[in-house]
Amino acid sequence: APPRVVVIGGGFGGGTCARFLKTHGLDVTLVEPSPTFTACPLSNSVVVGLRPIERQRFGYDGIRRAGVAVVHQRAAAVDPQARRVTLGDGVVLDYDRLVMSPGIDIRYGALPGYDEKAAQVMPHAWKAGEQTVLLARRLEALEDGGVVVMSVPANPYRCPPGPYERASLIAHYLKTRKPRSKLIVLDAKDGFSKQRLFQAAWARLYPGLLELVPLSGGGQVTAVEPDGLTFVTDFDRVKADVANVIPPQKAAAIAEAAGVADRSGWCPIDPVSFESRLQPGIHVIGDSAIAGAMPKSAFSANAQAKACAEAVAALLRDDQPASPKLINTCYSLVAPDYGISVAGVYAPSSGTLADVEGAGGTSPLDAPDEARAKEAAYAHSWFDIVTAEVFG
Ligand code: FAD
Repeated sequence: APPRVVVIGGGFGGGTCARFLKTHGLDVTLVEPSPTFTACPLSNSVVVGLRPIERQRFGYDGIRRAGVAVVHQRAAAVDPQARRVTLGDGVVLDYDRLVMSPGIDIRYGALPGYDEKAAQVMPHAWKAGEQTVLLARRLEALEDGGVVVMSVPANPYRCPPGPYERASLIAHYLKTRKPRSKLIVLDAKDGFSKQRLFQAAWARLYPGLLELVPLSGGGQVTAVEPDGLTFVTDFDRVKADVANVIPPQKAAAIAEAAGVADRSGWCPIDPVSFESRLQPGIHVIGDSAIAGAMPKSAFSANAQAKACAEAVAALLRDDQPASPKLINTCYSLVAPDYGISVAGVYAPSSGTLADVEGAGGTSPLDAPDEARAKEAAYAHSWFDIVTAEVFG
């Protein structure tokens, strides 16, 4: 019988990896609780009413057709010594190798006042689905002249440019629909991805509408008060009419349960094989993994998944896995027809995934509007291509 590989998590990393493992003739089982996946990329457009949430949803029939056994259960426990996964319904799956791509969990409790209940009134919308719709509804109900407040955490977190894309699109929404309103972004950092491109665009498109308060300006939120929709900082209390808290995050709970997360809450890995540094036989990819210079993105998760599938197949043949070169591109929409991007190439070096010097870069600062419009179109085609590759 072919070797058995279990994959936990049917998102960008796990879905891709399961399919690529299958091309090696392995016995592949994908474990994912939800019968429908809701994708985060482009979900900021859903928040501002520019895109229906339905377009973010994907089923698992395509993955099944590729020969993967898909089980809609939660992985409840992993026994790395016995090499078995126990599912929520008690079924036990034995594996020769395990791949985990369970994404993130919110680190409830890390920001005082922010718990599951608070997330109902100060939605994070950092896992797409119900939360996205909740934030969209609140924004829709905002009166013209109201104040929207967002808080952005320190690194690392899922999708480094994502908060700034969201801020941009909310500013666009206010400008076009509720022009007397204002957006305040409280940031626990002083610098961020594509910062110069974002800020140049904001100055031009949203003057006076979007106020960014960086760490050095007192932007770090130390607590929230869901009852008063209030953000507490060292110097100030900022009251919102619509509040969006992007909270601190960690690898999804099953990573800790499997013993692959370290004290940081994320999962250290070998950069060639993505094998856990803590538990042999378990590979971790996507947002959960500590992937060196690679950002936590769907593009990265998809690239890592392919490299990981090759490595797992090689190891199961008792071969050495080849050293991978990985690419990431993150598109952001600053307005519906205004896109910017950052790209990078990464390779194993000194035990981590390091930036390949001289490769990649960002969109030019002085590009003409047609170039921005093209990049907005690329953002959509990238989404269509990657979701077709994973779920199609
Ligand atoms: P996910 O895609 O989240 O998949 C994890 C899966 O694991 C989920 O389906 C979950 O149900 C499952 N799971 C969790 N626990 C268990 C368990 N115990 N048992 C079984 N299954 C489990 N990235 C880009 O590249 N481009 C973008 O433009 C972009 N925009 C973004 C915008 C926003 C607002 C956000 C929040 C994110 C954005 N991202 C973007 C980031 C991207 O969504 C993530 O990096 C990507 O989803 C990571 O893939 P993953 O496989 O690690 O996790």
